[in-house]
Amino acid sequence: MLEDKFGRRFHYLRLSITDVCNFSCDYCLPDGYACDTDRDFLALSEIKTLVNGFASLGTSKVRITGGEPSLRKDLPEIIKACSSASGIEHVAMTSNGYKLDTDIEKWVDAGLDSLNISIDSLDPRMFAAITGHNKLETILLGIDKAIALGVKVKVNAVLMKQYNEKELKNFLTWLKTTPVTLRLIELMQTGDNVTFFNQNHVSGMPIKEQLLESGWEQLIRDKTAGPAQEFFHPDYQGKIGLIMPYSKDFCATCNRLRISATGKLHLCLFADQGLDIRPALQSTDSSQLQAQLIELLGDKEATHWLQDGFTGATKHLAMLGG
Ligand code: SAM
Ligand code: SF4
Repeated sequence: MLEDKFGRRFHYLRLSITDVCNFSCDYCLPDGYACDTDRDFLALSEIKTLVNGFASLGTSKVRITGGEPSLRKDLPEIIKACSSASGIEHVAMTSNGYKLDTDIEKWVDAGLDSLNISIDSLDPRMFAAITGHNKLETILLGIDKAIALGVKVKVNAVLMKQYNEKELKNFLTWLKTTPVTLRLIELMQTGDNVTFFNQNHVSGMPIKEQLLESGWEQLIRDKTAGPAQEFFHPDYQGKIGLIMPYSKDFCATCNRLRISATGKLHLCLFADQGLDIRPALQSTDSSQLQAQLIELLGDKEATHWLQDGFTGATKHLAMLGG
């Protein structure tokens, strides 16, 4: 098992397979994807070695992310490579939902069992204003399809003062009858979004208090759970998760490592550099990769320094997948 010097265990791999995205979310890529260099993204064969290497060291869950992962034509093969690796029990993906409605069956056939879909507003006009795409309706239809196919669905919504601070009411009404977990994510500062962050960051703490006052109860976290705080209510089919990276002890429950689309290991979402592991992916034998991962994990720090405005090398989260 991969374990760092603070006793944290890493059974969860976040694998970015592209940093290209077709949306232009205000907090992430407000001017859209900048195609400024040719990116040489990890090939399927490299992904197989990577996932097998992580699985041999105790990783049991892979989340495929991006950029927008559904823009890769070989996505079903990538999902299959993850789901068929010995030791991998769960394959999840984070997506903007652009291809959900048309492609979900293929993803499920390949072994996908859970999905996080980003929806920052249930108001179609506001959704279009934030993302640059008038796609809310088809994304919601895609979510219904995914639920019907037995996929565990979470919906990611970034908390922003300017847009959706007052949206909670709409989301709560939706959760009464929709069996998804809504993840309310505090806006994080990145290298590129400092002005937007200063104008829009709101803390999740008042929402936590509001939920507790209105009968929501906090779920007891199991030992392997990540940093989200989760809540349920007997009158609601859906649940709520709060992700508050600026809160005290957020990093104490860190259970994940990240790989960028070009094969760099990021020990933290806000690390000051990615560590190149790509040469170790050129063989089908993952033993060199395993030795390198164990060595590099020795440098993982106890916490990020986001509260001090230090965002490391992360210009925007499309680089690494959040
Ligand atoms: N394109 C996919 C999507 O949007 O779901 C996957 C990649 S996206 C970077 C992953 C998640 O990060 C999304 O839920 C997005 O809303 C969130 N995200 C992006 N930038 C963020 C920021 N600055 N603060 C908080 N969450 C952010
Ligand atoms: Fe694209 Fe996701 Fe970033 Fe939105 S949050 S611009 S969908 S990568």
